[in-house]
Amino acid sequence: MSSLRLRIPLAAASLVAAALALAALLDGAESLLIAGLVLGAVAGLLGVLASRSLLRPLASVKQAAAAIAAGDFGARVWPRPAGEVGELADAFNRMADAVQEQMTDASAQRGRLEAALNSSIDAVVALDGDLRVLYANVAAERLFQRPAAEVAGKPFVWYMPNEQVLDAVRASRDRGERHVNVIERPGRQYLQAVTTPIVGGGDWAVLVVFHDLTDVRRTELVRRDFVANVSHELRTPLAGLKSVIETLAAGAIEEPKLAHEFLDRADDEVDRLIQLVEELLELSRIESGEVPLVVAPADVAALLSDVAEHLRPQAERKGVSLSLRVGEDVGSADLDARRLERALSNLVHNAIKFTPEGGAVTVSAERAGDRLVVKVSDTGIGVAAEDLPRIFERFYKVDHSRASGGSGIGLAVVKHTVEAHGGSVKAESELGRGSTFSFSLPVARP
Ligand code: ADP
Repeated sequence: MSSLRLRIPLAAASLVAAALALAALLDGAESLLIAGLVLGAVAGLLGVLASRSLLRPLASVKQAAAAIAAGDFGARVWPRPAGEVGELADAFNRMADAVQEQMTDASAQRGRLEAALNSSIDAVVALDGDLRVLYANVAAERLFQRPAAEVAGKPFVWYMPNEQVLDAVRASRDRGERHVNVIERPGRQYLQAVTTPIVGGGDWAVLVVFHDLTDVRRTELVRRDFVANVSHELRTPLAGLKSVIETLAAGAIEEPKLAHEFLDRADDEVDRLIQLVEELLELSRIESGEVPLVVAPADVAALLSDVAEHLRPQAERKGVSLSLRVGEDVGSADLDARRLERALSNLVHNAIKFTPEGGAVTVSAERAGDRLVVKVSDTGIGVAAEDLPRIFERFYKVDHSRASGGSGIGLAVVKHTVEAHGGSVKAESELGRGSTFSFSLPVARP
């Protein structure tokens, strides 16, 4: 810079000297005119030189700096100015390279962090000291049912008006405590909320992570219900057996006719117990996959007819008609015949059981592409819409007052058997009008 600053005045000075020498050779008005012209040219040249050699290169540095500040990290000083401003430009460009590299690294790191947070199934929310939402990941958007952009900057309480969680959040902010709460949300949703203070996170003061416990809770409830239900189902026949034994012991055993009656009743109770235990065992075998299916091509029409003929006497006793409708193209299907027969028997047995006298039960089978669809329809008492979604759960009985003597396991066995075949079950019903229980299976096993 300093030599440049010197060089311009020197060049100007030699021009001035030349102008004066020329004026000395000439005389009068001519010499004055020429010297004036030369000085004007020098002033112009100085202006041009100053702007060309200093201001323009500096302006390009200034321009590049402004572009970088505005986020264009690829901006550079180019073309390279000559001389010392060029060296300044080189240093500036090297600095811009380093800044660009750091920014690329930082944004890749930020992208990875964001991707990791967004692929979490847990809702993650960061709050500032005023408990406003500063960050919400995709799972949190789902939880709040609002886009993150809408949630950002808004009070957390708007989206989580739960005193337990809010207290925990305040404790994390004010006392640096970590809290774990389980809260229930509408729709029987259970959430575990973990609140932790964020140390060294700038304006991020508290982190809240919501973990959905609904499935875990449901499994716990199912397990608890299972034990309660099994005990309950065992208690009824066992109590019956006990009273039979007591009656016999109290003297009924001496009267052969009475004794026979009580023994028959005991036999029924034992049958109930055996059926319950067998259904439970079958359910647990299928669920655990311990005893695999014995799959072989089976004649579908023959299988349906076996089941229908087996249950026809029961239907006749009840005054319910039982008919069979098998499509001609049904043919054979790969299945575990013994297990599927049992499942179908369950459906037909229920249909007869829940259809009053004079009603009708129809068993049908048809092909739908590469699937076999079997339906059991009845004109019976039907199932209320609110019970239908739970009807295949084990131990689920629609109305305990109906006390059909069943254990509520039958349909669970059907569902698991069909699913083990790669199929699905369906129940449609209208209260007081009848029901259709159906299942569909792939005809051929891969
Ligand atoms: P259960 O041994 O009690 O019959 P299931 O699992 O087979 O057990 O059936 C569960 C409940 O579903 C039954 O208690 C009954 O209330 C209802 N249900 C099943 N099939 C029918 C049907 N065809 N019509 C009306 N209700 C039915």
